[in-house]
Amino acid sequence: MSNPVAKAWICVGIMMLGVVLMMTSMAFLGNKVLLYLFLISGIAVFIAGIVLHFVIVRCPHCNSYLGRVQGPRCPYCGREYNEKA
Ligand SMILES: [Zn+2]
Repeated sequence: MSNPVAKAWICVGIMMLGVVLMMTSMAFLGNKVLLYLFLISGIAVFIAGIVLHFVIVRCPHCNSYLGRVQGPRCPYCGREYNEKA
């Protein structure tokens, strides 16, 4: 899979999972061990999603980091992501 739009959504999904883990930790306010376990793993998963986004959401042609991917074309080199190199 080389489509950066699909990759960006996977990273957003990982970040969402981190948020869900952080919110789940709030259900364990009476249990500090579980609270910190979920909170720290949630933050770690969230950061991993951001880092993964920065690493893999890149133009397949010019390798520029795309940030928030908009439209089917790279804003840097103007080529379509699905276009064969
Ligand atoms: Zn490009």
